[in-house]
Amino acid sequence: MAKNNEPFQNCKECGKYRYIVNKTKCLCDDCNYKRLHKGKSRFEVRAERNKAKKPKLRPATGELALFKEIWAERAHVCTHCGAKLPEPLKPIYFSHIKSKGAFPELRLEKTNIELTCPKCHQEYEFGTRTSVCKDDI
Ligand SMILES: [Zn+2]
Ligand SMILES: [Zn+2]
Repeated sequence: MAKNNEPFQNCKECGKYRYIVNKTKCLCDDCNYKRLHKGKSRFEVRAERNKAKKPKLRPATGELALFKEIWAERAHVCTHCGAKLPEPLKPIYFSHIKSKGAFPELRLEKTNIELTCPKCHQEYEFGTRTSVCKDDI
């Protein structure tokens, strides 16, 4: 009995001599993936996932209400340099400790927001980027 345990065999589905990931059904990686994803290839599944993604977050949603709460609760001073933040409230005073892009779920998390003066906010969020980009202009 020559039971074939070779890692490389002819795939039962596509017939190509390939690395067999599913030894029971004798399927190559691609064919086995399709079997597990209703006949869709990796590329198709990825394209569908991208399509299903929610549109980009609208920056205004819910943030201003949160800013007002924080404004009412905290001292109006910059967390970084201690500068006074003059009335009225401005969105630029509110800085996300963990960026909205990297941590969208923390966007409306009060503890992730600190008060900063416009100068510190600029340095904190755009500091490295602007200095890197300057050479390109
Ligand atoms: Zn195959
Ligand atoms: Zn400051």
